[in-house]
Amino acid sequence: MLDHNGVTRRTFLGGAAALGYLAFKSPAELIAETARGERSHASLVAALSELDDYDALAKLSFNENPYGPPDSVLKAMTVAFKYANRYGYPDGGVTEAIATHHGVKPENVVLGAGSGELLDVMGSAFASNGKKVIGASPSFEYVYAHVSSVRGASITIPLTSDHRQDIPAIIRATTQHYREVGFVYLCNPNNPTGRTVSAREVKQLLDAIPPDVPVLIDEAYFHFVEDPDYATSVPYVLEGRPVLVTRTFSKISALAGMRLGYGIATPDLIAQLRPYISQSISAVVKWGGVAALADTDAQAKVKTVTLALRKKTMAELNALGYATIPSETNFFMVDLKRPVPPVIDAFRAKGVLVGRPFPPLNEHLRVSIGTADEMHRFLVAFTDIMAKPAASGAS
Ligand code: PLP
Repeated sequence: MLDHNGVTRRTFLGGAAALGYLAFKSPAELIAETARGERSHASLVAALSELDDYDALAKLSFNENPYGPPDSVLKAMTVAFKYANRYGYPDGGVTEAIATHHGVKPENVVLGAGSGELLDVMGSAFASNGKKVIGASPSFEYVYAHVSSVRGASITIPLTSDHRQDIPAIIRATTQHYREVGFVYLCNPNNPTGRTVSAREVKQLLDAIPPDVPVLIDEAYFHFVEDPDYATSVPYVLEGRPVLVTRTFSKISALAGMRLGYGIATPDLIAQLRPYISQSISAVVKWGGVAALADTDAQAKVKTVTLALRKKTMAELNALGYATIPSETNFFMVDLKRPVPPVIDAFRAKGVLVGRPFPPLNEHLRVSIGTADEMHRFLVAFTDIMAKPAASGAS
């Protein structure tokens, strides 16, 4: 799901046919294909061994946390495995812990198997069957893709020339299309640009649009922001506005593969989402989430090292003559001054995964912040790839 593409050894090693976006198959899928006779045993063995290469790649493509969960979280999850065989297990008080963290009531909290589930649920509840979502583009396009899968539609507003979300234009479009609007989507900070919408602009948006239009404010990258003009939108929920603020444990807490996110909203808005929620969160990650919220030291360390590496990498690219978009997240965009797709492929051939293309920013590459070693590999690869003329295919 999401915009996440996997790789096999063939894409890693390069070669004309190999450079496409191949789906990453799990061992179970590979084994099932073999059982159905679609794959020979020898090919199964080869494919399973290819999966090991995944570990060797510098994974700078999905804005993940490269360090993995801290010991406190691993310990809590390990203990929670004793509930693996249960339905009615104690969940560690995850909903209450989130409510306390935000100063809201447990009835203001809705859990999702990743915040992505809640983005889907918002689309299913409010923008299916001809209704529309309004938001910026490029943004987290996953939201618009889900809305279209439930036969809704999107009205997308281009970014400003300095890659900000155009709040006055979003207000105008929402007011103009009021009857068709299912909800407004605001990704803050925005993925893929990394730019924030200020607290003042969020208020401007919420005050200017018709008061019954629901607004989804996606704060997946909240924990990385330093901008003093930025603020969480959770207080608008307490004012009773129809706002869903989503957060994730996938980024700062390094639990992307475990799937846990949540939303903060009024009980009334949550009641409208409930019918679409899958209840597919595991006992293990619920306990991991509680421990992650409590381990503020671990979060602070991830933030410090990530921002230091982001600033260093961006400064080095700037020194090489490549402009970057200011970022408040664990990723950034660099202007390559040439089309991105062949460069992505050239990085893959060097064992470095970077972000997919984000049209219409066709010459901007999105780079997630990995470990110091991964960022070094990125810079070495970048210097080599960009030293060759674009016309040569950058490989
Ligand atoms: N929102 C944004 C802006 C994201 O970039 C992502 C993932 O990359 C998500 C939401 C979904 O994250 P998850 O479902 O892992 O919580």
